[in-house]
Amino acid sequence: MQLTVEALQQWIITINNKIQENKEHLSELDQSIGDGDHGHNMARGFQEVVHKMEAASYEETGSLFKEVAMTLISKVGGASGPLYGTAFLKASDQWKERTTVDQQALAKGMEAAVEGIKTRGKAHEGDKTMLDVWAPVLDYVQNKPIENDSLKETAKQAMEKTKGMTAKKGRAAYFKERSSDCIDPGAFSSYLIFEALAECMVDGGGSDA
Ligand code: ADP
Ligand code: MG
Repeated sequence: MQLTVEALQQWIITINNKIQENKEHLSELDQSIGDGDHGHNMARGFQEVVHKMEAASYEETGSLFKEVAMTLISKVGGASGPLYGTAFLKASDQWKERTTVDQQALAKGMEAAVEGIKTRGKAHEGDKTMLDVWAPVLDYVQNKPIENDSLKETAKQAMEKTKGMTAKKGRAAYFKERSSDCIDPGAFSSYLIFEALAECMVDGGGSDA
């Protein structure tokens, strides 16, 4: 697996398409255990990311993801904006000067991203947050040869498992046991991010080189 700058840009575009398609669903999930703004926050942020990306050109993957991160921090808002922004910013540090990202570099970037989410949000696995998707997907990327169906399935199962967890962080924590009736909105948006990655590895210029 070798993701070029173009393939990674396609990943971002695909994330945006999925977020726009699922905007209402994400906000409905957040309505049940939060303030109902997650879909709108993410849709606003990723739309702006795509606008900025289309107006620029990138020689390497680090500068692409730095711009993605800074835009998410400034445009998404809520708890999730700084957390996603930190995740992509930490990944961009690992991808500085790289013109392609192979599986090892993807694992390094994701490891830094997960550390960033943990440091910033002080959540642990099982607290019913986006981390409950990022951590199992990181484990998969670190330990298995990436294959698109199993990457998607890993993210999907992790997202579905947040139903049944009691929220310990963020607004959802105020709902206590009642929070366990539904999927965490940030886990769902994270699932869309990795579903988009899986699709781009096939369609978007990923190669076996
Ligand atoms: P807000 O809660 O400020 O309205 P959003 O609705 O955009 O922000 O995002 C909520 C999502 O953010 C949650 O579903 C959860 O996945 C994630 N989240 C909230 N707090 C944390 C945290 N401390 N660590 C990791 N993820 C968190
Ligand atoms: Mg919210």
